Amino acid sequence: MSDASAAPIALMGGTFDPVHNGHLRAAWEASAWLGARVRLMPANVPPHRPQPQAPAAARAAMLRLALHGQERLVVDDRELRRDSPSFTVDTLRELRAEVGARHPLVLLVGEDAFAGLASWREWRELFALTHFGVMTRPGHEPAWPGELQAEVAGRECALDGDWRSAPAGFVLRLDVTALEISATAIRQQLAVGEEPRYLVPEAVLAAIRAEGWYTRRA
Ligand code: ATP
Repeated sequence: MSDASAAPIALMGGTFDPVHNGHLRAAWEASAWLGARVRLMPANVPPHRPQPQAPAAARAAMLRLALHGQERLVVDDRELRRDSPSFTVDTLRELRAEVGARHPLVLLVGEDAFAGLASWREWRELFALTHFGVMTRPGHEPAWPGELQAEVAGRECALDGDWRSAPAGFVLRLDVTALEISATAIRQQLAVGEEPRYLVPEAVLAAIRAEGWYTRRA
């Protein structure tokens, strides 16, 4: 049964255009810190940023290749099944209805993404639906705007604090290994004919090469 005594479920949304070792290592370490399986959720039509270059099905396929061989990180393709923008609040409401009101959920976001939270649809409502796991990300440490700081004040919780007994509402800081890798830099390398080897899993690089993603406009 889904309740507060169950293992938390963690979610990491993103465009994953393409998935890279920065995502994967952060998700892996967050999974260990939280004692949670992490669902990586590719966005179909991300509302807060430029549209991805690779189509949704290709981004999900690259994720599946990247996750092959382990079970702690899994793909959740629910946002790909909608053709409307992937608003996190809608996704979390759907998931909340599935797992029940008491099950702890943790939304994993890099500190760069978290800094922009106040521009997300119904952002304050998100704290009623999930905890946040804010992952360190080198080179992307923008200051949090005042309204976000005010919302977070009083919500910060240590990893060994009592967030596990609540379904939502706390903000956890996750000090993941700093890997300064971004999908933007990988796309730029591919566009000029460089090889982003060791920044993405080998199987992902092979798929990018086979399909020609990012070397020509998709
Ligand atoms: P782009 O360069 O295209 O903006 P990205 O590399 O930031 O892409 P996204 O798919 O937008 O990747 O990121 C999904 C989530 O993963 C976001 O919460 C982002 O902050 C986080 N993230 C991405 N790269 C890292 C990294 N190197 N370390 C920690 N978190 C990361």
